[in-house]
Amino acid sequence: MKAMRLEAVGQLFVREIDRPNPGPDDLLVRVEACGICGTDRHLFHGEFPSTPPVTLGHEFSGIVEAMGTAVTGYAIGDRITGDPNIACGRCPQCTAGRVNLCRNLKAIGIHRDGGFADYVLVPQRQAFLLPPGLDPLHGAFCEPLACCLHGIDIAGIKAGASVVVLGGGVIGLLTVQLAKLAGATTVILSTRQASRRALAEDLGATASVDPTAGDIIDQIAGSQGLVPGGVDVVIECAGVAQTVQQSFRLAKAGGTVVILGVMPQGAKVEIEPFDILFRELRVLGSFINPFVHRRAADLVATGSIEIDRLISRKVSLEEAALVVTHPPAPGEVKVMVVPGLGAGS
Ligand code: NAP
Ligand code: ZN
Repeated sequence: MKAMRLEAVGQLFVREIDRPNPGPDDLLVRVEACGICGTDRHLFHGEFPSTPPVTLGHEFSGIVEAMGTAVTGYAIGDRITGDPNIACGRCPQCTAGRVNLCRNLKAIGIHRDGGFADYVLVPQRQAFLLPPGLDPLHGAFCEPLACCLHGIDIAGIKAGASVVVLGGGVIGLLTVQLAKLAGATTVILSTRQASRRALAEDLGATASVDPTAGDIIDQIAGSQGLVPGGVDVVIECAGVAQTVQQSFRLAKAGGTVVILGVMPQGAKVEIEPFDILFRELRVLGSFINPFVHRRAADLVATGSIEIDRLISRKVSLEEAALVVTHPPAPGEVKVMVVPGLGAGS
């Protein structure tokens, strides 16, 4: 079978490898779609630890074609989405129920072979059934959606809440939709590209702002702004210093800031602790997707999330290697790999 292999940092190739054999607990899944994520670029550049040689791809869905002897509850032909993050279940974090903080966390597509291939092995407890008729491209969105859902959950968004989302990539655009579904009545997206602001408003954002057109704190939280005094919840989805700083100033007194965006390890941001104290802000980190993959799959399966408009293009495995090794093209939101697709289609 074909697979896109990270052989070492900076070395990514599509090559023929043996189709894997399922162990007792594994499903052998024929990959129908796998999303390209910023993390794949970080892995290529060595900015995020992985264990090459490894097949990348952690946002996948596909069809069960074979299974190990201990698998129950799945049948050949089932369509599934995989939760790539495998917790050990035994470390102090796992036994305290914080599986996303597992000391021994291993991820499909990072530490073991992933979904940029014709086939992927998925341990049965990492698999979640999807409806047979679901668009496979949609199935592959369950993983990024699950990460956003964890952020929404810990933010504790209440009906009628006001929310600002910073950064209009795929994570920000999914978060806007989830904030609406969670009951927020004001959802404002800040992102630089006009096409993304327009898209966000189509997807349910009540307003959008251009952070390069004047002071965004004034535009949103100023006395003449969209929500004078600031919003209940700010969700940082850009992973840049500027938006992290803005988060603290956009939240109202007693409000919540959720950091979903990933900044490079060691990066520093200047903040004013007095402001956090004096306005009693709740500041939370949101890391991956503990216990939310089933709900994410249900949101996708029921068509509750607009996905088609987030997909910029579909590529073959060969083309995918070029996408991962180059910076994202302007305007592009999500590129999907369809392993069966002929190169150039
Ligand atoms: P992305 O495509 O890079 O989206 C981030 C967007 O933020 C950029 O495309 C950019 O859009 C916007 N941005 C950049 N600077 C900005 C600024 N100063 N003000 C406002 N917007 C700005 O990445 P993504 O896939 O959506 O992911 C977003 C972040 O979430 C990344 O850091 C990613 O690593 C992280 N992430 C975290 C988790 C988790 O578990 N916590 C899971 C998945 C991803 P414009 O050009 O339109 O400004
Ligand atoms: Zn653990």
